[in-house]
Amino acid sequence: MRLCTALALVAASAGVARADRDPPSIPDTVDDAPAGDCHAALDAAGVRWEATTRPGIADAVIVTGPIAGVTYASTSEHQPPLVLDCSLVVSLAIAGRYITDLGIDHAIYSSAYQIRNVRGTNRRSKHSYGLALDVHVWSGPQAGTLSVERDFEQGQGDDIDCVGAPATEAGMALKILECQLIRSGLFYLVLNPDYDADHYNHYHLEARPWAKRPHLRATTPALH
Ligand SMILES: [Zn+2]
Repeated sequence: MRLCTALALVAASAGVARADRDPPSIPDTVDDAPAGDCHAALDAAGVRWEATTRPGIADAVIVTGPIAGVTYASTSEHQPPLVLDCSLVVSLAIAGRYITDLGIDHAIYSSAYQIRNVRGTNRRSKHSYGLALDVHVWSGPQAGTLSVERDFEQGQGDDIDCVGAPATEAGMALKILECQLIRSGLFYLVLNPDYDADHYNHYHLEARPWAKRPHLRATTPALH
């Protein structure tokens, strides 16, 4: 997929990412859509990557550089390579402009690919499929350090005014980032500390499998 096509997909898919309290379940089957389209989208977005395989991931890639100007680093002292499904990396790459626009060039994540259940259920977390990433801290020379745990102001925004009126600059930046990511249509779920107690310290960013992405398409344009 060329970049222009990928961007058209963005514009066509706005407004459907959700952050409500009852996320619909996604079929957990691995789809056999041609992986090449997603790989081409990575290349078009300038992402450096290597193909790999991991149990549960339909199209696993190792990210070997920044994603659209943002370096993703693990909280683990071992600094494992970032392995995700290609589909989520494409979302992060195309969403990169919203992130860097806020002066952010660095993100610290905990859970990326990790086989586990959603807490308190016997349902596999989307982390098990490489389709989710938990980001705790966003930072950059202009943004400073934005800690979801420390700086996110709960209860701000609604369906009409996504951002609301956070009292602090850091709270405002985090909320704008969240709203941009939701309204980009690139993520199936963007969960924050308002969602539940388990998300008190991170944003959970989740994409749909590449083969399922057409189901996200809507007719409303993306917010820029
Ligand atoms: Zn998560």
